[in-house]
Amino acid sequence: MTDKHSVLKNVFGFDSFRRGQEDIVDRLIAGENTFAVMPTGAGKSLCYQVPALVRDGLTIVVSPLVALMQDQVAALKLSGVAADAINSSVSRDENVAVWQRVVAGEVRLLYMAPERLMTPRMIEALQKRSIALIAIDEVHCMSQWGAAFRPEYDALKNLRWNFPGVPIGAFTATADEVTREDIRAKLFGGQVSEYVAGFDRPNIKLTVKPKDNAKKQLLEFLSDRRGQSGIVYALSRKSVEEIAAHLMTKGHKAVAYHAGLSAAERSAAQEKFMAERGVIVVATIAFGMGIDKPDVRYVFHADLPATLDAYYQEIGRAGRDGAPAEAHMVYGQGDTRMRRRFINDENAGQERARREHKRLDALVAYCETPDCRRQSLLAYFGETAAPCGHCDGCLEPAETLDGTREARLICDTARLTGNRFGAGHLVDVLLGKLNERASELKHDALAVFGAGQARPRSEWQALVRQVTSAGFLIVDAAGFGGLSLTDKGEALLAGDGTFRFKPDRVLKKATRKDRRDIAAAAIKDTDAEGLLYRLKALRLELAAARKVPAYVIFPDRTLIAMAEMKPMTLSEFARVNGVGASKLEQFGQVFVDEIKRSPADAHQGPP
Ligand code: ADP
Ligand code: MG
Ligand code: ZN
Repeated sequence: MTDKHSVLKNVFGFDSFRRGQEDIVDRLIAGENTFAVMPTGAGKSLCYQVPALVRDGLTIVVSPLVALMQDQVAALKLSGVAADAINSSVSRDENVAVWQRVVAGEVRLLYMAPERLMTPRMIEALQKRSIALIAIDEVHCMSQWGAAFRPEYDALKNLRWNFPGVPIGAFTATADEVTREDIRAKLFGGQVSEYVAGFDRPNIKLTVKPKDNAKKQLLEFLSDRRGQSGIVYALSRKSVEEIAAHLMTKGHKAVAYHAGLSAAERSAAQEKFMAERGVIVVATIAFGMGIDKPDVRYVFHADLPATLDAYYQEIGRAGRDGAPAEAHMVYGQGDTRMRRRFINDENAGQERARREHKRLDALVAYCETPDCRRQSLLAYFGETAAPCGHCDGCLEPAETLDGTREARLICDTARLTGNRFGAGHLVDVLLGKLNERASELKHDALAVFGAGQARPRSEWQALVRQVTSAGFLIVDAAGFGGLSLTDKGEALLAGDGTFRFKPDRVLKKATRKDRRDIAAAAIKDTDAEGLLYRLKALRLELAAARKVPAYVIFPDRTLIAMAEMKPMTLSEFARVNGVGASKLEQFGQVFVDEIKRSPADAHQGPP
């Protein structure tokens, strides 16, 4: 008799299951639908191959790429398993021969692309056979929300009607909740037990550096990694070609890989990478699905990946042998803009575009986090972890500035607008941008309206992301991007807690003057801070009386200068940066009066 342990040992030569595998194997053997989400390299194939050999009958395996299929079939055959594939890469005669073996009951695992499987003829023919199990690999290709959506995968939703009672196992390394929900509903009608494995790959060191000159940064990165195998991801075919050529002129063994190359060129590149030591594949995302090379020492992203999921899958190709490996990315604002443009140009409907933008926000938050990157990455997959101690966030804690005041403003804005608006609207309110929506909702009457004019939009956007990734705000689960206060955010508003940010992640191309302004903005003097709040309240009154946005009275920067200088006379007031003759005349006296009042008389202190 064949039990799972003897299959594992005898067929695959492994002494024990890895974490998670046995559970999944047991469920499938018992005939239960199972949805397994496990990191790349965790060993998903075995999870359906073992049950296929334990249960009686034929197992159908759906796999998206012919090349992947061929490799698996070849590997299984080498292990003595009766596996076969029906696909377009072999002759009709060969496919007919395979089918004859299926009919004769000689095949245990039959691999097929979804478009092959889901033809009425094939379904009908298979319904006459005894089917043990249906396994769907790379099942995220089914989800419209994923970057890897394949229309052919959509038809798989009919399988549960076509083969009632046959257990379905679905496998992927992509796991955000939206995608998962989509798959649970479509493929299983909700009737499935789910197994989500831990996502941590502790041997991969995570680093992200500001992009300056990607090629140069890559060469530097490679300089002490000569002879190691690695993958370099770039966005376009053109840059793939360029980078590969550049590396070769510098004496590296590099090959280019992208979808514009012929099948022969691609398999030659892959072959070289698999067979030779120290080869660098420079590739678009076309490369990697199903790549099982254990000793890839690094994955270098010369451009921003599409999503954090994609990033996770891509870096997951490093260090499969468990030895130290690195994921290094160079990241610039230009990349984000390009990705945004892609999303908008896709024209795939508002709903999808909005979700895609939110996903991009999550990726950008990861790139910009001043804290542990692993924590940030795992948090995206719903896991909490302690700081890892070996990412750049942990190893090189950068100079940070106090942004508690800014964080309070952001949290206050979220609260005052009802905990339901996204970053864009919050920033509009902070900037005092009077749009239709804001005036309709009377957001221009809020105390925070225009309170953030000392900083440009891009900085506020970066600050909102950081305040969110620091846990003061949370993005709504439905994926609409609305931000609401967390307990931590409430506490901050109540005066408890601080927030610090990395200036270089917020101030992209900060000039020296900007840095001075920022330093000024981060006032340490709490007395001045209290005064600043009073000045803002006054400004708000003046603005409201005149029905103008607050910054029209004075921008924040000027209020900050006032709070620091504390001018007590009109002539002193005239020297404050940002005070002209007309404003001196109109507002000088009221501001000087306010400054002269001691904090004790003040009606309003800091919140
Ligand atoms: P995934 O599809 O999850 O990315 P694979 O199924 O390609 O991963 O497996 C990755 C590698 O792990 C393969 O080389 C496989 O042989 C190996 N592997 C899987 N299960 C075990 C196990 N229980 N013990 C040892 N090695 C295993
Ligand atoms: Mg796999
Ligand atoms: Zn860390």
